[in-house]
Amino acid sequence: MEKFDIDKIVRKNIEKLKPYSSARSEYRGDAEVFLDANENAYGSPLDENYNRYPDPLQWELKKELSRIKGVPPQNIFIGNGSDEVIDIAFRIFCKPGQDNVIVCPPTYGMYKVCAGINDVETKEVLLTEDFQLNVEGILNAVDANTKLLFICSPNNPTGNDMNRMDIELLLNNFPGIVIIDEAYINFSRQKTFIQELLEYENLIVMQTLSKAWGLAALRLGLGFASEKIIDLFNRVKPPYNVNLSSQQLGIKALANIKEVNANIINTIQQRNWVHDQLQQFNFVQIIYTSDANFILVKVDNADKLYQYLLLHRIIVRNRSKEPLCNNCIRITIGTQQENEKLINTLKSYE
Ligand SMILES: *Cc1c(COP(=O)(O)O)cnc(C)c1O
Repeated sequence: MEKFDIDKIVRKNIEKLKPYSSARSEYRGDAEVFLDANENAYGSPLDENYNRYPDPLQWELKKELSRIKGVPPQNIFIGNGSDEVIDIAFRIFCKPGQDNVIVCPPTYGMYKVCAGINDVETKEVLLTEDFQLNVEGILNAVDANTKLLFICSPNNPTGNDMNRMDIELLLNNFPGIVIIDEAYINFSRQKTFIQELLEYENLIVMQTLSKAWGLAALRLGLGFASEKIIDLFNRVKPPYNVNLSSQQLGIKALANIKEVNANIINTIQQRNWVHDQLQQFNFVQIIYTSDANFILVKVDNADKLYQYLLLHRIIVRNRSKEPLCNNCIRITIGTQQENEKLINTLKSYE
């Protein structure tokens, strides 16, 4: 297979693009009077900051992330949620109506939705029976128009890590960009790939502050990649894609890493407890081992169990219609009290 060459896979219109230059990105200096951005000089009803456009490149937040993640700020992209990172990857690399991407179901649904929105074909190469990557199948599916490969590890909804050697093999042999979605990495024993950016020019690692960091409402999705790829992301993104409150609250939250780590440990303990407790039920057929903050469970009748739990005002995710997930439900790990309520409710099922 051909060696990876980023210039060959970037869309020509993006390569040639002259990005929008915002007032805040053009001016660098120590001006006192800002009459360049049509902002409201009289202030906002909230706070003196909110009348000004925020930093388009979120450098303060990136500095804090850099400290925690051990990746230089210029190798970090921050999106309005991970979904923006996914969408921009499509817009940089995939020509609508011509290019295609590879996804490995059962997996996160947004990859395919985003492909659809961008009029990009999705080639689906199912995971194996034990929910691992079908490396040969993936490489066989590649054609001259294949631009992206999505690997979710730990995978949603199955909960397991992908074998590291399989991922490395794909990084070395896939001719396009490999996007590793590590949304659940903090709950896993697996080592992150963000330290491997120098090794692989075709790697984008996605993480998020929505799960382990508990900040789903702020919409802070992260992309880690070579400077070259990050520059492309910055050209294509909307100028002010991350709002000021999210930047400020993100910085504040990153100072509380101890609390976050304690919550991760609790979540993992509770995950083990729920896993053990589920074994007592006859209607439970398989409890899949999880490296994430949820557990996939195969039961005798997922639709019936889902409705039963709903009746008791407990909502889980019915994943029965996903390939390889017949009669499977996905249960997010809650607080101890919530998990006890779940197990007690299941005791009176049937
Ligand atoms: C939850 C989740 C995300 C996070 O999405 P955000 O838009 O950052 O909240 C990304 N990938 C997967 C697989 C997820 O399950």
